[in-house]
Amino acid sequence: MVEGFNPIRYSVIEDKNPREIVMLVGDGCKWRKCRFCDYHLDSSKDIEANFQLNKQVLSNVTGKFGELEVINSGSFVDLDKKTIELIKQICLKKGIKEIHFECHYMHKDDVQNFKNSFLNIGIKPIIKLGLETFDYDLREKVLVKGIEEKNPEVIANYFDEINLLQGISGQTKESMISDIETGLKYFSRICVNIMVENQMPIKPDKKVIEQFVEYVYPLYKDNDRVDILLNNTDFGVG
Ligand code: SF4
Repeated sequence: MVEGFNPIRYSVIEDKNPREIVMLVGDGCKWRKCRFCDYHLDSSKDIEANFQLNKQVLSNVTGKFGELEVINSGSFVDLDKKTIELIKQICLKKGIKEIHFECHYMHKDDVQNFKNSFLNIGIKPIIKLGLETFDYDLREKVLVKGIEEKNPEVIANYFDEINLLQGISGQTKESMISDIETGLKYFSRICVNIMVENQMPIKPDKKVIEQFVEYVYPLYKDNDRVDILLNNTDFGVG
């Protein structure tokens, strides 16, 4: 974990699709190549320490909305077994019926078994992919996301929801709207993350962000299937 980084790890999302959200710690994203991402640094190889921290974070969960989102700056496969078991116990105890996890495309073949392990105990799992954009060249040559598949229909066979990254050079209002519309066509919900400055090579593009705020945001701000994070801490964690 990054020294001096003291994130908020539990929050409640009150407006669209109300749910509790926890930011847990795993042993680290196995891809780590995305050129816009430094949050995979929030990880540790000390599995027991991760579990103890996750246990403390999960103790905040009340089940008030019957829905929980788990993020861990990587994929669900990076979480230790004890943490996953504890999540299941908490869901059962607190009446949580729907749970969201995130996952990189490289683990797509692990998704169904993982989902089954929740379905078997009566909990609906929802898996979110960080897709970032349907523009293949931007995604793979610039962002280096590591998703070879081009067909959204195929991607949607594995994943229920997607993250989109907007506010970067090479995007226009038309391309951002097109990404959102394609996302809404194939996935149950989408989350638009506006690029924020970090230490990585991909930088926010002020002009593109202005285009987003002026033309794109008004179209989707009231759409219940679209979360929009103008800042990456807008969910209250991070
Ligand atoms: S897959 Fe996710 S956590 Fe891993 S490097 Fe890319 S954006 Fe970061």
